[in-house]
Amino acid sequence: MKVVIIGSGAAGLSTASNIRKYDEDIEITVITRESFIAYSPCAIPYVLCGKVDCFEDIVMHKPEDYLEKNINIVINAEVFEVSSRENKLKYNFNNGYLKVVKELSYDYLVIASGATSFIPPIEGTHLNGVFKIRTIEVGFKIKEWAEKNHNAVVVGAGLIGLETAYGLKEMGLNVIVTEMLPQIIPRSLDPDMASIVRQYMENEGLQVILGNPIEEIIGDKRVEKAIIGEEVLNADMVIMATGIRPQIKLAKMAGCDIGRWAILVNEKMQTSVPNIYAVGDCVEVYDAITGQNTQSPLGTTAVRQGKIAAKNIVGMSAEFRPVLNAMVSKIGQLEFGAVGSTKSWAVHNGMEVITGKSKALTKARYYPGAKTIDVKMICTLNGRIIGCQIIAEERVAERIDTMSLAIAKDVTCSELAAMEFSYAHPVSMVIDPIILAAEDACWKLKRLKKM
Ligand SMILES: Cc1cc2nc3c(=O)[nH]c(=O)nc-3n(C[C@H](O)[C@H](O)[C@H](O)COP(=O)(O)OP(=O)(O)OC[C@H]3O[C@@H](n4cnc5c(N)ncnc54)[C@H](O)[C@@H]3O)c2cc1C
Repeated sequence: MKVVIIGSGAAGLSTASNIRKYDEDIEITVITRESFIAYSPCAIPYVLCGKVDCFEDIVMHKPEDYLEKNINIVINAEVFEVSSRENKLKYNFNNGYLKVVKELSYDYLVIASGATSFIPPIEGTHLNGVFKIRTIEVGFKIKEWAEKNHNAVVVGAGLIGLETAYGLKEMGLNVIVTEMLPQIIPRSLDPDMASIVRQYMENEGLQVILGNPIEEIIGDKRVEKAIIGEEVLNADMVIMATGIRPQIKLAKMAGCDIGRWAILVNEKMQTSVPNIYAVGDCVEVYDAITGQNTQSPLGTTAVRQGKIAAKNIVGMSAEFRPVLNAMVSKIGQLEFGAVGSTKSWAVHNGMEVITGKSKALTKARYYPGAKTIDVKMICTLNGRIIGCQIIAEERVAERIDTMSLAIAKDVTCSELAAMEFSYAHPVSMVIDPIILAAEDACWKLKRLKKM
């Protein structure tokens, strides 16, 4: 049996490795237009800020490593045609001197084509010094350009924009982050929690402009200024971190059904064409809270979907669960994370919710080095927890993961408030901050019922 995978990102390579884990004989070919494979795009901002020494360090494997596992990787090759009637695809292969067209047949095709950066339709995005951050190759270019320049404007205050802005600030540039919406990290945090992160970033020397879209980028060959709302900002470089768009052209060509944003798949990661699977940033997933289709552009989602697709292709049965989009990030010393729905998103979807909050410490009050921790928990009126956001200078990820489990298992705030957590003063408070937030939610629900 022959499996061809388009894309060597987290989703494509996870599918390839997992197929090999369960089956030694399947012929596996991965085709990618990139020259680097198996690197972590998530780490690009951390190379800029110097936490990771160099881009080479974030490349975890080379094509030769996969060949040892009998997985054939074709790099610098772009698939441009898929025929699901003939079970064949065509790709351009650049052998260093010329482009040649090659054809490949498959029994199963896996589309793991990821996403591209979305660039708003404004003047000036073609100028030298304007970058969209997505691949390691762009990472190299951003670093090289930043080393010779002083003023950067980062457009978009989502995770990627903020992490990149901090990286450039650590390189010594003056950095302004601009965001069209009135808050940063709008997808994962409510405004009150986002303002804690914004305050931290401003204290670290980053300027943040909210509530204004980018209007234009000005320059003669290279970028000189960026117009944000009424403001004209000096800029030697502009990073466009303005969202992503799933790459669905090949799936459409193959006749796969497309949803509102991306490729539609069932819980087996199978598209509407039975021998074509799709995984990663190019697919739509099911939101566990709202019950609607959504996107989950996360490395963790891509890897988990690759495992599911692989199991189904080799004949084992596996299902991908609806997502809670658990995320965590670290900017400077500050960690922040979220899982499930924000209050804003729940209300937008017509849900009635209450929130429980706590502001506490990460260790006993008297123990040196205790840090402030902020927790916000979102619950329905019957007490079911549907979301949580946490900000602190340590131990955010493990609490987000605990909350992910609690939400997935439909735990209520009163059940969580009664849970047994570990305690020792150098590592925790006697009552954990998430228990305190759950207690606050219970108290608010009780008060609401009395009204
Ligand atoms: C700067 C940055 C920071 C991030 N930080 C985090 C984080 O902290 N945590 C987290 O969970 N996620 C993070 N992400 C998101 C995460 O990296 C992505 O969700 C994940 O990489 C998606 O994997 P994928 O395989 O679906 O897509 P991609 O990694 O985009 O891979 C798609 C592949 O398909 C190839 N391809 C597409 N079309 C063709 C074609 N026609 N022919 C040949 N090849 C093709 C591309 O070249 C590419 O190799 C971050 C992303 C970025 C950019």
